[in-house]
Amino acid sequence: MNMSDFSLKYYQNAYLKEYESTVVSCEENKGLFEIVLDDTIFYPEGGGQSSDKGYLDDSEVVDVQEVNDRVVHYCKKPLETGKKVVGKIDWRRRFDNMQNHTGEHIVSGLIHKLFGYENVGFHMGEVIQIDFNGPLTDEQVREVERLANETIEANVEVVSLYPDVEELKNIDYRSKKELKGQVRLVEVPEADVCACCGTHVNSTGEVGYIKILSCEKHKNGVRIQMLSGNKARKYMNEVYRENLAISNMLSAPMLNTSEYVRNLQERNGQLLSELNQFKEKYLYSLMSEIEDGQKLCLQFIKGFDRISYTKFANSLLESGKGKVVGILNENANGYEYLFISREINLREHVKAINERLNGRGGGKDNIIQGSLKSSEEEIREVLEEIFG
Ligand SMILES: [Zn+2]
Repeated sequence: MNMSDFSLKYYQNAYLKEYESTVVSCEENKGLFEIVLDDTIFYPEGGGQSSDKGYLDDSEVVDVQEVNDRVVHYCKKPLETGKKVVGKIDWRRRFDNMQNHTGEHIVSGLIHKLFGYENVGFHMGEVIQIDFNGPLTDEQVREVERLANETIEANVEVVSLYPDVEELKNIDYRSKKELKGQVRLVEVPEADVCACCGTHVNSTGEVGYIKILSCEKHKNGVRIQMLSGNKARKYMNEVYRENLAISNMLSAPMLNTSEYVRNLQERNGQLLSELNQFKEKYLYSLMSEIEDGQKLCLQFIKGFDRISYTKFANSLLESGKGKVVGILNENANGYEYLFISREINLREHVKAINERLNGRGGGKDNIIQGSLKSSEEEIREVLEEIFG
């Protein structure tokens, strides 16, 4: 049996939650037991859809893969060959996969129908990710989502077809690769026909809800992230809770939170600019207290931006406070430094400063800058020695 063996139970009836089969073989490998059954309701990972999980009797099934045309159940406990066992799949996980796989077909089919693009990559993880080989505008994405949810409302039957070679020639369907042997087509009337070996819901109404979460440029096309059904509702509930929290914090109406946040950002920008003006004024207020004509005029400050303290350093140099002016601006990682001078070649000293004070940086003859990881005391001592 293999994934194109469409007589397997999960193809015959995707809604079987429990099924009795006979153990054909059981082999231990790397701490797990690889169990093959005569038939199974467990879907093996494939075609972008993740595997089922569940139990065979009391042996937990942690993964299911197709290996050499056989469906292998990776289990925690061994089961005797020839024994009849009851398989139970994790139905929540399976039904989430069915809702999301059918949802993916509806969206891919509509995009193909409306814009002629192919689904060139598909992955079902926490969210469903689909790559298309052409661009889509935000408006087009909204239109696809609207039509996808209309397809759900129409509650049409999702049909599996097993056409023979001749019939297949006359059917227009989507497929990622050349197919050999019996082909299974999954049809969503008015939206899609696609070759597929995954599990699907019986009617589109069961998909419940489709939400396209994002659409971003990817290679020559776009990458869409989406969710369907229960997973989509859970996700949107989280988004709702986040928005509710923002709404409460800002006393903003639920449908107007972004405008309130934008206003907050603008206000924050204004405050920062006002704060910087005050900080600069504070720096200049220090000028009168600083002694004139020092060899080294060293200023330890905290939390200033580079532009402000560079201006301050130039003012100190111009007003003759020192032959060398040094600014040490404390931040979370230590100190940023800036030294300027017209008379002393600073570049000749930068290596010694960095080496002795655990720093890095460089510059030109009359200006050097970088960062230091040393205490104020150590910095004063070393710099006095070099420039004092
Ligand atoms: Zn599919």
